[in-house]
Amino acid sequence: MELQDKHQLRNPFLSDAETEAGIDMLLSEMTLQEKIGQLTQLGTFDEESDMELVEEGMVGSLLGVRGADNVNAIQRAAVEQSRLGIPLLFADDVIHGYRSTFPIPLAEASSWNPELLEETAAIAAREASSDGINWILAPMVDIARDARWGRIAEGAGEDPYLGSVVAAARVRGIQRNDWTDRPHIMACPKHFAAYGLAEGGRDYNTVDISETRMRETYFPPFQAALDAGAGTMMAAFNEINGVPASANRWLLKDVLQGEWGFQGFVVSDWESVDEIVQHGFAADREQAGAEAMNAGMHMDMHSLIYHEHLANLLEKGEVSLDAIDDAVRRILRVKYRLGLFTHPYQDNTLASTYMLNPAHLETAREMARQSIVLLKNEGSLLPIAPSVRKLAVIGPLAEDVEAQLGCWRGQGRPEDVVSVLAGIRSLAEAQGAEVVYAAGSSIREAGDTSELARAVRLAAESELAIVVLGESADMSGENNSRVSLDIPEPQMELLQAVHATGVPVVLVLSNGRPLTIEWAAAKIPAIVNAWHLGVQAGPALADVLFGAANPSGKLPVTFPRHAGQVPIYYNAKKTGRPHMKRYADADITPLYTFGHGLSYTSFSYEELQLEQTVAKLGESVTVSARISNTGDRDGVEIVQLYICDEAASVTRPVKELKGFSRITLKAGESRTVTFTLGTKKLGFINSKHQFVVEPGKFKVWIGPSSAEGLEGSFEIIG
Ligand code: BGC
Repeated sequence: MELQDKHQLRNPFLSDAETEAGIDMLLSEMTLQEKIGQLTQLGTFDEESDMELVEEGMVGSLLGVRGADNVNAIQRAAVEQSRLGIPLLFADDVIHGYRSTFPIPLAEASSWNPELLEETAAIAAREASSDGINWILAPMVDIARDARWGRIAEGAGEDPYLGSVVAAARVRGIQRNDWTDRPHIMACPKHFAAYGLAEGGRDYNTVDISETRMRETYFPPFQAALDAGAGTMMAAFNEINGVPASANRWLLKDVLQGEWGFQGFVVSDWESVDEIVQHGFAADREQAGAEAMNAGMHMDMHSLIYHEHLANLLEKGEVSLDAIDDAVRRILRVKYRLGLFTHPYQDNTLASTYMLNPAHLETAREMARQSIVLLKNEGSLLPIAPSVRKLAVIGPLAEDVEAQLGCWRGQGRPEDVVSVLAGIRSLAEAQGAEVVYAAGSSIREAGDTSELARAVRLAAESELAIVVLGESADMSGENNSRVSLDIPEPQMELLQAVHATGVPVVLVLSNGRPLTIEWAAAKIPAIVNAWHLGVQAGPALADVLFGAANPSGKLPVTFPRHAGQVPIYYNAKKTGRPHMKRYADADITPLYTFGHGLSYTSFSYEELQLEQTVAKLGESVTVSARISNTGDRDGVEIVQLYICDEAASVTRPVKELKGFSRITLKAGESRTVTFTLGTKKLGFINSKHQFVVEPGKFKVWIGPSSAEGLEGSFEIIG
């Protein structure tokens, strides 16, 4: 068959058998160098030197090339100039929006709204696609329980159940692919695995973890992402129990391919194949290449080790042709699935209508509203009463548009962002109120005291001060770990000085991680955790502050009192001395627990009912409660279901989230919310690393957070 005819076979709608037959045919034609080319991703592209590599079929993927025309020109070289015409994957880190930047992922997870999470991921993918991207290096699904770790901002927080729901929603969104005339998009859940467990919260650091915990806490979001259809996976930088993730056969082969039947491909993290040498697991780059390839690492991101050493390694018998062929097959499979063989080029007319499309911005505003968590609201300071005539907006983050883009801003631009100040100003002024503003301090360094004095004076002359404090964008994200989780000192001085004037203060946190705000929690009557909210930060925050939107977000991560408490998470083990848990020098409880978040209305929980108080192994238990909106505003409540397996062959956490429901209740309305606890939710990983449900007593709670709720119990019998 002529090559031309073979191209006809490469159709996105081909059956699996036809795809595999097409791949067989290609593999039979490919030279070793062309095969190795498929396994090579260039992290940067220099037209002068790299175009030739593309034309020679020596590259499988590029990272960070954007713009439909740029992409098409390079794709044309691959498809029309290279001998076999195999198209390239164009990858990009699209973490929370492309041009229309959404709230950071940790913020989006605070919405507990899978439909909306799917929608923002789909919008990001649509914008990225219009710019030529067909492979998105997201979602980051690493569970993170240590707020010092800067990349906590990029994930969905501390809980494997919520993390799994969020991971699946993001993959569904990224891969919605509701078009047929151009390349589809593939998601890449990352970083496999346990990257968030870096010792001391120091990025890239050592991970030492039991297999039970790995399977129970760190794997579920990856499994959920694969179940949702992700066809690629990124390996982590860290080592796991002495073996770098990027050279870890147990992880990449035994678990991912063997147990989970993964048919897609694994890409390394940035030069993580090379880093196998720095880990001290391989003596040189060549050996690192062999370790990675033999562990099941299919594509090498940027280190060029496969490019330089695989042929040699094959000749020496240190890697097999089967391993190389298998990696090529997996990569080609993804290229088929994306329809790249029939639709390699991007329509270059779409970007102008997609980027910052008004509908995308409206979704960004809605997601930002739902990402905001009202931590405290004493004395009903919020929503701001229409009678307030003069407001002071204070703080260095009020006007900081960069901060709202957060870490991994992608293609988001500061000029696209509506600042917190601008959002508040426009809403307040529409209501006839006056807004005055002072930055008051710098974000981190001690500054000019006259600015502090000006802020204090403006606050003192106003009826209410909205003080916007927290972290700049570069204080969270990759390699931005912190030892302190405090609001930086100059900003704390500002907050204390404004508070000392006696004017009522609303504290708005603009942050990429949980912050330790014990002083503020004791002294400031209203605290709004706003995270880094993206392009629509200002309007969304103003909607919440003035009551146009009723806050509904709940924390996906625990807020400690002190950095010394981390790692801290709600679903901890009981220990043998639960009643003696203490620190000698501080309160051991969290400041705000997982699942916490207030509304401007109030909800009551009543009538916990269990359909079965005894069930046999394999049967489900159904539990319900009646939730009422007891306030005078419509609102949304995120109703949470927790269980505890009281005694088991492996000790169980004090509580585990097993379900949630996001319900809208009008003022005065009630609804019964019902959950089913099937086998999957009642089981755990035993000491032999098997999933089991064991007979015994369970507690169950339905409530508004991990710390409150109606309690019941049931028994599972053998
Ligand atoms: C990050 C990945 C990212 C990659 C490519 C690495 O430093 O860990 O999350 O996808 O760079 O930009």
